[in-house]
This record gives sequence, structure tokens and C-alpha cells, in this order.
Amino acid sequence: MSLKALIDASRRYGRDPHLVLLGGGNTSCKEGNILYVKASGHALGSIDEDGFVRMDRSKLEEIWNRTFSSDDARREEEVLDAMMASRLEGERARPSVEALLHALLPFTYVVHLHPSLVNGLTCAVEGEKYCKKLFPEALWIGLVKPGFILADTVRRAMMPLKETPNLIILQNHGIFAGAESLEEIDELYRHVLSTLKSNLKRDVDEKPVTIGPAILDPIKEELEPLFTEEVAYFHSNDTRSLLGGEESFYPISSSFTPDHIVYSGFKPLFVPAGDSITEAFEAFGRKHGQNPKVVCVQDAGVFADGEKPLALFIDTVRISVYSESFGGPLFMTDEMIEFIRNWEVEQYRAKVPSQVSLDTRRTENMKRRKQR
Ligand SMILES: [Zn+2]
Repeated sequence: MSLKALIDASRRYGRDPHLVLLGGGNTSCKEGNILYVKASGHALGSIDEDGFVRMDRSKLEEIWNRTFSSDDARREEEVLDAMMASRLEGERARPSVEALLHALLPFTYVVHLHPSLVNGLTCAVEGEKYCKKLFPEALWIGLVKPGFILADTVRRAMMPLKETPNLIILQNHGIFAGAESLEEIDELYRHVLSTLKSNLKRDVDEKPVTIGPAILDPIKEELEPLFTEEVAYFHSNDTRSLLGGEESFYPISSSFTPDHIVYSGFKPLFVPAGDSITEAFEAFGRKHGQNPKVVCVQDAGVFADGEKPLALFIDTVRISVYSESFGGPLFMTDEMIEFIRNWEVEQYRAKVPSQVSLDTRRTENMKRRKQR
């Protein structure tokens, strides 16, 4: 195995926004008793050696002999402590929350991504049915809490199997591919993506739609003091039909995966044409205890609090279009959305992405500018 080769592959995958965005996804490799796994919050696209944590595989294995609290918050704390204690001496970074699952798979290389095409399947009403038909060799895992519960669910699902599957497809989350070489992993991803592509009834249509400044400028001016970052904007043929009214908005009205909650907020705000954006924005904040990061204005387009929420929301639009081919969109349950919103792990992850220092600086500059 080679960490250098894993870093190269991680960057290659991480730089394709159709495969993974910002701090999402993670990779690992194994050498003897050592697991090299991505540290939490690092972006795959720019990862280097510092982005990987070395862990003791036997210590990670021992975690399965322990019993943890049944209380969500307590359990996650205990598991985090156990994972931190499984690092090799001298390691400072916090391992990815999926490190346990990486350790569990007996392959030299494991690459976990959140491709929008795959999530078009995993976030679809008939996702499981199509997964079994298109990828009979893969293991399908229904909606479960990420981290320890996910790893434990996969562990139990694999117990009766004679062979470990190379592909694990996770509802409302993404995909794990494992193999002895990175070439095999490339091949697995090529197979999955091309199979899905050829089974689409309709592809995305991201041709930009132009809206005149007479409509756009007043909306941007109104949103500027409400957002913390610069207003980011997007409008395409897809969003034009989705933003036609409350009903057509449904397929993009909630969260498909944890990444969407972390980066673009647990749901976008839809403002019907003619309604006061400020009033709707403030009412959303009062109701949900958090301001919207994405504001969709009927017949005008998608406005986001910076580039990161926008990137994830464009992904939401892609997933919703792809899901049409597999029975229509299926969001995470309200209970799961609440769990992710309150999960310390995700709050930590949202803060770390490698561009964090730059972003914080930008936000501080903006605030200073506003105070003047
Ligand atoms: Zn993931």
C-alpha cells in the first residue's frame, strides 16, 4: 500500500464536485496493523499527509467488545473517546467519524464518496429496489445514524455473508468502495456511475437562466444584511421549474444527506413571488432557531449565504432530478435531521474545512465593513 498513491487518488476524487463536496467523503488505507484514515473536516480535494490519522487496527477492533450508552449524546462521546484512544502515539488530529467502518472493511484501500448520481439512487423512494436490480453485488444499508451506529449496522449485516462486498450503498448518504488496489476502486466507481447514468430517465439541465437586474438587484440588496457571507446566486432550467410554486418546490424542500444539513442548512426557505423576503427570513429564524442559508425566490432563483451552502444546494437539485428515475425524492426523516442538527461531530466538521481560516477572515471583514 502507499499513502502517496492514496493522497493522489483522494485529491483526484475530491476535486470533482459531482463526486464529493467540501469536507465530505473520506478515504483510508491499511498497512499491517496501521489504518491511515482521513482526519475529520479535511477536504479530500486538497488533502496531504497531515490530513490522515494513523490508527491502531487492533485497538479499533477491540471497540466492538465494549458496550456504549444507549443515550445518543453519551454514546457518541464515549465512542469518540475510544476512537481518539485508538490513534497511534503522537497523532493529534481527530479521525473521521467513519473511521470505524473503514477499519471494519478488510480491503487495503477504501474510498467513501457522496456522488450526486449515487445519491439520486440512495435518496429515492425505490432506491433499495433499484440498487438490488442494478448492483446485486452491493450491500444496501437503510437509513441509520452515521458514525458508530452505521459501522455497527454494516458489521451486523456482513456477519452472515461469505464474502465482504466491495460496494456498500447507504440510503441518504453515499457509497463505500473497497479493494486491494486503487485501480480496482476506480473501476468500481466507473461501473457504478456509468450504470446509473444509463438508467436515468432524465438528466439534469443546468443551462443558466438569466433574470434581469431589475428583479435580481433588489433581492440581493435585501438579502445582503441578512446573510453573513456574500450573496451567492444560481438559476438554471432545473431550478426554474422547481421554483415555480410551493408544490413544484417539494423535491428540493428538505435534506437528502448529512452533508446538506451541515453546509446548506437543514432546509431552504421558499419565498413566493411578491412576498416580503425579510419577513419570511425572520419568521424562518424564529420558528427554527436558525436562519436559512439558502433562500429560493419564486421565478427569481436560488440565493445562498456564501458559496458553500450554494454548492451543496446545487447538489440537492441534482439529486432530486436523478431521484425521479428511481421513484422520486426521499428525504431523511425529521428525527434523523434533528439528530444531525444536534450532533457535535457535524458541528465540529462544519467548522474545520480546510478553507476555514480564509472563510473566517472573510466573514470578519464583512462584519467590520457592516459596522462602519
Ligand atoms: Zn459520508
